[in-house]
Amino acid sequence: MAEVRLQNVSKAFGNLTVIPDLNLTVPDGSFTVLVGPSGCGKSTLLRIISGLEMPSEGDVMIGGDTVTLEEPSKRGISMVFQSYALYPHMTVAQNIDFGLRLSKTSAEEREARVAEAARILALEDYLDRKPGQLSGGQRQRVAIGRSIVRKPRVFLFDEPLSNLDAALRTQMRVELAQLHQSLDATMIYVTHDQVEAMTLADQIVVMNAGRIEQVGAPMDLYDRPQTEFVAGFIGSPK
Ligand code: ADP
Ligand code: MG
Repeated sequence: MAEVRLQNVSKAFGNLTVIPDLNLTVPDGSFTVLVGPSGCGKSTLLRIISGLEMPSEGDVMIGGDTVTLEEPSKRGISMVFQSYALYPHMTVAQNIDFGLRLSKTSAEEREARVAEAARILALEDYLDRKPGQLSGGQRQRVAIGRSIVRKPRVFLFDEPLSNLDAALRTQMRVELAQLHQSLDATMIYVTHDQVEAMTLADQIVVMNAGRIEQVGAPMDLYDRPQTEFVAGFIGSPK
């Protein structure tokens, strides 16, 4: 569990400035949802927080520590992508355990953590299966399990449900909310789906062209949008 702060963060790829100058505080233990049109810089922001991408300027702080120059594995962060990136030849248990392979965790502790993750994610009966024998929702849970076992301070989700059908998305939404409760972790969650944003978020961050348009609780944005853009984005379903 940890607060995440971005201080005067900018990011350019060559001549293209994707994020001009951004300040954001993600409260400790919050479920913060990032929304905004395609290409506005959401994934880039997550990658900067995780350390997969360096900011051109500015600082990233996690739990009060400045981690701008810290490598990804030392940040206490875990990222869940929309493509599950599971190993097809490994079992569910091996896939979940994979997140711990390179750490110095003892075999006994690893086994206990895999079992705990399986319990939280209702995967206990599937531990010996291969990813090819699972449904989309189950595969997504395995990917989340791989994050959980590392006991990160912060979870980053980049449109994790966008490959799932509508019914499964609804189910996974409920499960993610429960996961947030049971882990007591800080979560930063990127989505295109307004229903997801409105139901999951404590705090919604609306981005547009690399800038933050407004930050607030879901109903706050809905009732009191400060710009036309926010009104259009939160107000109208798309
Ligand atoms: P979003 O996730 O909101 O759809 P991205 O963060 O993926 O947006 O991308 C923001 C902008 O940055 C886009 O214009 C994209 O083309 C550009 N971009 C992202 N990554 C790179 C990269 N590695 N090199 C060059 N341009 C990039
Ligand atoms: Mg993206």
